[in-house]
Amino acid sequence: MSQSVSGNWNADLLEQNYARWKQDTDSVTPEWKSFFEGFELGLTQSEELAEGVRAAVPEDAALERRTDSLVYNYRTLGHTIAHLDPLSSAAPENPLLSLKSIGFTESDLERTVSTKYFRDGQPMLLREMIAELRGIRREGDKVVIGALARHAEVADSDAVKAAIPALARLAGTIGDVQVRNRGTIGGSVANNDPAADYPAAVLGLGATVVTSKRRIAADDFFQGMFATALEPGELLVGIEFPVLEKAGYAKMKNPASRYVMAGVFVSRGPGGVRVAVNGAGPCVFRQAAMEKALAANWSPDAVAGIAQPADGLNSDIHGSAEYRAHLVTVMAKRAVADAG
Ligand SMILES: Cc1cc2nc3c(=O)[nH]c(=O)nc-3n(C[C@H](O)[C@H](O)[C@H](O)COP(=O)(O)OP(=O)(O)OC[C@H]3O[C@@H](n4cnc5c(N)ncnc54)[C@H](O)[C@@H]3O)c2cc1C
Repeated sequence: MSQSVSGNWNADLLEQNYARWKQDTDSVTPEWKSFFEGFELGLTQSEELAEGVRAAVPEDAALERRTDSLVYNYRTLGHTIAHLDPLSSAAPENPLLSLKSIGFTESDLERTVSTKYFRDGQPMLLREMIAELRGIRREGDKVVIGALARHAEVADSDAVKAAIPALARLAGTIGDVQVRNRGTIGGSVANNDPAADYPAAVLGLGATVVTSKRRIAADDFFQGMFATALEPGELLVGIEFPVLEKAGYAKMKNPASRYVMAGVFVSRGPGGVRVAVNGAGPCVFRQAAMEKALAANWSPDAVAGIAQPADGLNSDIHGSAEYRAHLVTVMAKRAVADAG
């Protein structure tokens, strides 16, 4: 089980830890160490490879390194090309994400490449690899969303709106316009902030998390506060959401940040009823009593009388555990109504 570092970071802490790590790589916790190693890998490989652009045609090994760099840079810096300035018509750019800075040209998009950071080294066209990391598509009875899809893209996606409207609505409630333009589904799910929205949809729909190494069922993915099944160096590549008969979401948001105070995602499909609660506890969890009640009677009234125990729920300046427990029942009713 890995602990995400960004769960505890702020800019000062990040800079302090980075300075310490630069002086002595063992002076920070293993999570920070692995984070800085990954970050530097992307940067240094880009710099080295930029030097190599003028060099000869790449050998296989160089091609693989370039691909590693590209995927790594997209993963760590992909959000920097979000369009945040409504007054500017110029598309935002980050030189570290350009093909050229990594030693590729446009024609390389049609080359077959592979990297250990993507689909366990399976060969594929570079163009497909980039598209898959960013794309949103309907594939039979599921919607597949690439890790780098930003919240605004999910909220506006015709494929998501048609297949799982509750997921599009959920994405549209995340933070504000700036946050939705910059935040990514992969970053949000890998971070597993207890107050984040997406974990409720992933668990509530019984989605599958696809990583650079394996496929992880939602029930096994979220492991505690800011903790997931991702191992060091394992990249989240995308998420497969099943298209189910019914799905709905409701959350009580913090009015300042729009983070979740308590939220509930419900769904009904061939595998049964799922009720996932976010914001209320240290980690998203399933509410078994509500699932049973909804399986017998799919209506808001079926959950109205089910009290969520306050034991173990979050208590902070925003609200007590008892308040959050009360909200769970209210949100569950609203989520079922939202699902229709
Ligand atoms: C003011 C504000 C309000 C917000 N309100 C909400 C809200 O209402 N609801 C909500 O859900 N969220 C909210 N957020 C969080 C936001 O939606 C982002 O998703 C979140 O901050 C993560 O950012 P990111 O997507 O850029 O990921 P990053 O910050 O890039 O990454 C987060 C963590 O995940 C890791 N990571 C990123 N991508 C991958 C990957 N592909 N594979 C493996 N690990 C990866 C990173 O190493 C890092 O540890 C808010 C944020 C802010 C600043």
